[in-house]
Amino acid sequence: MSAASVQDENQARLDQIKADIIKRTICPDLAKDATQLVFGDGNPAAEIVFIGEAPGKNEDIQGKPFVGAAGKFLDEMLAQIGLKREDVYITNIVKYRPPNNRDPLPDEKKAFVPFLQAQLEVIRPTLVVTLGRHSMNCFLPDLHISRVHGSAKRIKINMKQTDDVLSLVILPLFHPAAALYNGGMRQTLLDDFAAIPRIIQRIKKENKS
Ligand code: URA
Repeated sequence: MSAASVQDENQARLDQIKADIIKRTICPDLAKDATQLVFGDGNPAAEIVFIGEAPGKNEDIQGKPFVGAAGKFLDEMLAQIGLKREDVYITNIVKYRPPNNRDPLPDEKKAFVPFLQAQLEVIRPTLVVTLGRHSMNCFLPDLHISRVHGSAKRIKINMKQTDDVLSLVILPLFHPAAALYNGGMRQTLLDDFAAIPRIIQRIKKENKS
């Protein structure tokens, strides 16, 4: 299949997952106060998927993840490794804005995780980059981000609906919003980000052997 038709097919499957969230009225309390569902953005056959926590005010208005200040910083870091937003796929665990930008609640994250996993099953990225502890803990529940940021871990997920085993490599990074105004964390995030191309090459080699 050509790259373009893989993208089209993946996009159609992603659209189906989005429609499913709406049809099944996931997190109705969040949905009623949100402007819209913020599902994900970018290349539906991307090599790298970035996962944040939940949409903020700008994301809620524009319907796209990471379009505010944290998103600008993410765009800058992508440019630093030669990538644009259109090259990668960006999403969040929770797909509706929590009121007043509060942290997403455990039940809200739990409700959205199967849809996030379904997105990853469609895209099958070489690398999943989690941004912040909420996102990391969806995949690596017992780890502390301050200890493991920047080091990639391979995990397997048993997909309930398809009985498939999804093998993923997770790279936990600090959240760009947390690093924006903290000089030390900002530099750590920039350094961790700069290692992404090398990590991708290593995973591709491992996947071949
Ligand atoms: N922070 C997030 O975690 N996600 C967004 O989409 C924007 C800010």
